[in-house]
Amino acid sequence: MQALGEGVAQFSIGQRVGVPWLAHTCGHCRYCASGRENLCDTPQFTGYTRDGGYATHVVADAQFCFALDGIALDDVAIAPLLCAGLIGWRTLAKAGDAEAIGLYGFGAAAHLVVQVARAQGRRVFAFTRPGDTAAQDFARSLGAVWAGGSDEAPPEPLDAALIFAPVGALVPQALRAVRKGGRVVCGGIHMSDIPSFAYRWLWEERELVSVANLTRQDALDFLAFARRVPLVTHTRRYGLAAANEALADLRQGRLQGAAVLVP
Ligand SMILES: [Zn+2]
Repeated sequence: MQALGEGVAQFSIGQRVGVPWLAHTCGHCRYCASGRENLCDTPQFTGYTRDGGYATHVVADAQFCFALDGIALDDVAIAPLLCAGLIGWRTLAKAGDAEAIGLYGFGAAAHLVVQVARAQGRRVFAFTRPGDTAAQDFARSLGAVWAGGSDEAPPEPLDAALIFAPVGALVPQALRAVRKGGRVVCGGIHMSDIPSFAYRWLWEERELVSVANLTRQDALDFLAFARRVPLVTHTRRYGLAAANEALADLRQGRLQGAAVLVP
């Protein structure tokens, strides 16, 4: 924090804070009024509808900044908590009290979710691109009890499946992997088309839901958890000018963990 606007009392100069994706909500629409500001009708998003997410400095609304005190990670290592960590946290929360959880797509979000889920006493099954043994080894090293290709069946029916890869074809596959009454949660903003599938894969009260954005309460809850349970992040740093290179590496699966742009 280099400067404070008028009336900002909760932060001090020099303090380390995080600025997440959610940059502003209206506070009065039906979603804001019911504790679901992640669905606000007129939101703003950092680096998307509000400038400064890809810059050396950013002006942010103090109401949407979060103190990072008490989390023993350096600036690069802590960055994934503010994006992948937060959406992963909200996606995992949608799984309720599920004990056996499948993660489809083992990237930035999943590599944090597996640690959280394990600390909560859940069993995690990681699904990667078929044949990606490096990603499967990575998942097991972080606590997954099983790892395999997304075309494989898990060794036991899942209580819930979380999909982080933007691949619609994973939806029917995940539905086939969850037990009766199980839930499939789509964690991505964008996904390719979902192919048609037999109704019997949804039958028996299986549920299919998506997750959008985050609330400030999600951020407070997740950061409080990260203070209690040390998380590790795997990052690759890129200079600001190499942002497109980072995206290409992500698309090609050449990256383990999270890419972090460093001004
Ligand atoms: Zn609103």
